[in-house]
Amino acid sequence: MSQAALGREVKRRLLLIAGRTYLNGSIEFSWLLDLVQQHPEAREKLQDVVGIEVVRRDRGALVYPELWLHLDGGGVRDCSWRACVHGPSSREARLFAALRWAVRDQIESARREWAAWRRDAYDGRSTVTCGVCGDVIDAGEPLHVDHSGLPFVMLARRFLARYDDGSPALTLQALPIGGYELADPQTVSAWRALHDSTARLMPTHALCNLRKGARGQGHARDEAHPTGAGR
Ligand SMILES: [Zn+2]
Repeated sequence: MSQAALGREVKRRLLLIAGRTYLNGSIEFSWLLDLVQQHPEAREKLQDVVGIEVVRRDRGALVYPELWLHLDGGGVRDCSWRACVHGPSSREARLFAALRWAVRDQIESARREWAAWRRDAYDGRSTVTCGVCGDVIDAGEPLHVDHSGLPFVMLARRFLARYDDGSPALTLQALPIGGYELADPQTVSAWRALHDSTARLMPTHALCNLRKGARGQGHARDEAHPTGAGR
């Protein structure tokens, strides 16, 4: 099956089961899980996922499905089914996914710091502001971390430019649970050092982060799939 035909088939099937959240144990959930595991950032996407919701969107004549991953403890995460269909075919998308994964703890520790700062505000009023819209991110609202200054993709491209195409330093290994990681520990530490010293991070609202992504700023998948509807 060609990739375009596969995309149409996945879209058709998603629309058939749209309108519900599927939980582990159902046939639909297994099929959706198989699909999401094809996402270039599957490992990140699937963390703490307890259910997968399929939503039908009607925009005039345009009808399309969306995937929303429901997380343990509440909250949702977007997931582009188009990236699941096309993702593994793009080597650059796989590299970005592996690079993101390698610095996940750096992002996570920034998030934790802001979350603690927000929680410890002396009168219970958060003073953490969103780097995109400038408004306060209230306690209880999901807090996302984004790259301010140089976008992640630019930083990643700058790093990848150190190596020749097909260099063994950039060997990727697919993980059985989905996603990719860089096989060479030296490449990983060089990238971690560059990201740690160069990346400037900012807190954002979940929605502001999404909107920014949808405009194709700093998200690999959007650059790889300019026609894709979000992630
Ligand atoms: Zn905002």
